Amino acid sequence: MNSADVLILGGGSGGYACALRSAELGLSVILIDKDKLGGTCLHRGCIPTKALLHAAEVADSSRESENFGVKTSFEGIDMPKVNEYRDGVVARLYKGLQGLVKSRNVTFVEGEGTLIDPQTIEVNGVKYTGKNVVLATGSYAKSIPGLEISGPIMTSDQALNLDYVPKSVIVLGGGVIGVEFASVWRSFGADVTIVEGLPHLVPNEDEAVSKALERAYRKRGINFILGTKFASATHTDSGVDITLEDGKVISAELLLVAVGRGPNTADMGFEENGVAMERGWVLVNERLATNVPGIFAVGDITPGLQLAHRGFQHGIFVAEEIAGQNPVVIADINIPKVTYCEPEVASVGMNEAEARAAFGDSVNVYEYNLGGNGKSQILGTAGFIKLVSQKDGPVVGIHMVGSRVGEQIGEAQLIVNWEAYPEDVATLIHAHPTQNEAMGEAHLALAGKPLHAHA
Ligand SMILES: Cc1cc2nc3c(=O)[nH]c(=O)nc-3n(C[C@H](O)[C@H](O)[C@H](O)COP(=O)(O)OP(=O)(O)OC[C@H]3O[C@@H](n4cnc5c(N)ncnc54)[C@H](O)[C@@H]3O)c2cc1C
Repeated sequence: MNSADVLILGGGSGGYACALRSAELGLSVILIDKDKLGGTCLHRGCIPTKALLHAAEVADSSRESENFGVKTSFEGIDMPKVNEYRDGVVARLYKGLQGLVKSRNVTFVEGEGTLIDPQTIEVNGVKYTGKNVVLATGSYAKSIPGLEISGPIMTSDQALNLDYVPKSVIVLGGGVIGVEFASVWRSFGADVTIVEGLPHLVPNEDEAVSKALERAYRKRGINFILGTKFASATHTDSGVDITLEDGKVISAELLLVAVGRGPNTADMGFEENGVAMERGWVLVNERLATNVPGIFAVGDITPGLQLAHRGFQHGIFVAEEIAGQNPVVIADINIPKVTYCEPEVASVGMNEAEARAAFGDSVNVYEYNLGGNGKSQILGTAGFIKLVSQKDGPVVGIHMVGSRVGEQIGEAQLIVNWEAYPEDVATLIHAHPTQNEAMGEAHLALAGKPLHAHA
């Protein structure tokens, strides 16, 4: 098949979700990828990193088991074995995804595609046409001008494939990817130093959450230098020296460059065919349409949050839009975010500063400390759930920090997206003893009837 209702370039989270939903809606689909179906998330992102983070949690549990009266000893990390476990997880999911795409009669074309006119993509000299074209070519790990990725200076792509645990690492960038790798390596026994140019770790989160993560990292022995910019790096016999703008030099075996991801859109014919772009990003309206009729863009190539579930939602949205179903727009601000370090960080909606900028004094804030939550005490974690609501109005943001709090994001995103009032949630029942109970307790308190809370 060389022509279809929907022609998709890129088979990552955004592209394959669009393919699966389009097929479900009875549309014919061609999906093109130059690499493995599943994209960054499955092969180089979410899934492999979370497998490493799980191995890290097991390492921490074995080290700390004495605290729970369990005698065991931590002997070390067998990195090839960790990688085998991780690859097994990825391989099972990859096989399942290939089966899904096949069973829905999506035509998968392997090869590098170029847009040659607004309805045609050429792959290895063969032309494929679509009534609608969806651009979904994702993102790549950026570096800093002058900082070449080679040898001990690496991005997450190379860091994921190490077959040993480095003795020491500098992580450039205290955002999501940086703090997750820092967490893994610390649990695996490395000396870790994070360098972040902004004043806080996870600087896009509520400031209270950033500060709590910094306290926890300090306790874990993860070093960080905040508000200081990187100046240069040099290879040494034992690894790498980096110089900061204040002249300070730090050395380590490896340097992980985690300074963000850029859109993967160069030399693919987008601009040549009139698609409006800005610094490489493909510009779309809120319905994910580009300025060229019939061309849509989804996922990481569009400006905004770079998350797999945003890609899934974009892909589904565009499929439904093409099928004429008039799907509902979800604003980026209400997309849940989880950082899977130890302790975890999870949030959805406006943080306190954003809510105050939007609503002035008409904002209520409540922080429920996990100290009052039975299950968190059993797990031995500190942290909190912070609610931000409009006065006499709905909850507009939920911000959490603590071990395993990522598991609470499901209810949090329902509350915010359904514009629930604290009183609505306070009447609902949360099972005891769970960490989820803390969500109920926080809303009870904000509704003026605290139970296990001193407020
Ligand atoms: C280390 C790391 C950890 C992450 N962890 C998480 C997480 O825990 N949770 C989360 O939500 N997100 C996470 N992400 C982000 C997530 O992986 C991305 O947001 C998501 O993969 C974006 O999906 P996408 O479809 O836009 O692009 P991608 O997944 O990058 O897919 C793009 C696809 O397009 C293909 N392609 C590109 N150009 C061409 C071409 N010319 N011809 C043919 N094919 C082409 C590529 O081969 C690729 O398969 C992580 C990312 C990284 C790097």
